[in-house]
Amino acid sequence: MAPTKTVVIVGGSWAGIKTTHAILKGISNVKVILINPSATHYFNIAAPRILAKPTAFAPEKYTFYIPELFEKYNAEIFSFIQGAAQSIDIDGKTVAIATAAVEGKEARELVVPFDYLVIASGSTTLATLGRDSVLAPFKTTGSDDLQSTIEQAQKTLAEAETAIIGGAGAVGVEFAGELAEAFQSKKGASVTLLTNTDRILPELKPGASSSADSTLSRLGVKIRTSVMIAGASQDSASKQWTVTLEGGETLTADAYISTTGVIPNNSFIPADLRAGGGWVPIDAEFRVQRQGKDNEKLPIYAVGDITTLAPRLLNTVAGQVPVLVANLKADIEKSTANRRQYSGPGMTTVVVPIGARSGTGQIWFFVVWGWLVWLVKGRDYFLFMAGSLLRS
Ligand SMILES: Cc1cc2nc3c(=O)[nH]c(=O)nc-3n(C[C@H](O)[C@H](O)[C@H](O)COP(=O)(O)OP(=O)(O)OC[C@H]3O[C@@H](n4cnc5c(N)ncnc54)[C@H](O)[C@@H]3O)c2cc1C
Repeated sequence: MAPTKTVVIVGGSWAGIKTTHAILKGISNVKVILINPSATHYFNIAAPRILAKPTAFAPEKYTFYIPELFEKYNAEIFSFIQGAAQSIDIDGKTVAIATAAVEGKEARELVVPFDYLVIASGSTTLATLGRDSVLAPFKTTGSDDLQSTIEQAQKTLAEAETAIIGGAGAVGVEFAGELAEAFQSKKGASVTLLTNTDRILPELKPGASSSADSTLSRLGVKIRTSVMIAGASQDSASKQWTVTLEGGETLTADAYISTTGVIPNNSFIPADLRAGGGWVPIDAEFRVQRQGKDNEKLPIYAVGDITTLAPRLLNTVAGQVPVLVANLKADIEKSTANRRQYSGPGMTTVVVPIGARSGTGQIWFFVVWGWLVWLVKGRDYFLFMAGSLLRS
């Protein structure tokens, strides 16, 4: 029987890929159309090591061809469109897409109708955009030249002898550890980690912060807490970066890499579907909430980094997808039973490798040992299970 409902998913990364599989496995008579600007999924979890240590992993270990992840489904129930959503017509139930020029086909505008829409367009970072930072893809660039952008970043960092990293959350700390190890053979090398908080890894227990502090210090990383970065710029002639701190102090280095948080990918999302900061507000069922229209039941869901939910982590996405899909299924089957409510991310699980041999983190209320971080994540940043995670 031909599918009777079409679900369009905007964003083909963690949240979009996992939602697509869950729908195709759990809901009958549905076609899923997945839209993503690039045909390549980037295993960005490993980005701190990929960028700092170019030979650590082969590109085929951390990049995946998105259509191949869904080859087990027939074309009647799944299709992939390589393109970027430009706008959503909420009442007309369509998404306008600018398709990419691929396989000899010209780029064009396409209007795709949906019965249900899932927004999974995620987030990006200043470094990924190359804005006020060395261009360093910590997230996907949304372009098929991702690998050449990665290689450019690897070259810039390999040529640098001094680096400043802004932001000491998990990504900043992981990257500082990897870069410090990569710089060890260089004479006069230095890595400085700046944070506006009074300790690094402020989202974790103080024990994890002090453990990270000692491991990074052993690797020679200079840590400065409670400093606010006011700006960063690169001199076009000398290529040196100058980081200006609030108060006027300036620091210079061959590279400045920002890891100071994430920015929503929301340019195509109507203003009344955005809350403060540009993130998409949802209810406990993951249904998008239009500003000023309480209790409206739009056929639009959102999941992952693009939502107002924090923390923005892959391991929280894993808990969100089943709830969203249960509610979508109930909508499609017009059932009031089996609806689910999301009650939050649950137990804190954050593991932060620091270099190839150590790290820290927190599982529930417990700070974890460095050797355990190495065992769980530090060996290859979960690359060993990337393929199976993405294909199911
Ligand atoms: C360096 C780094 C390391 C991390 N490590 C961890 C970790 O160890 N553990 C953990 O739990 N979390 C980690 N995270 C967080 C994790 O990466 C995010 O939570 C996760 O990527 C969120 O997935 P997502 O699918 O919601 O969004 P994203 O991964 O941001 O993907 C969004 C997708 O939507 C696409 N898109 C954007 N705009 C459009 C558009 N207009 N049309 C169509 N598609 C669009 C993008 O190209 C992208 O493919 C890390 C983050 C970083 C930056």
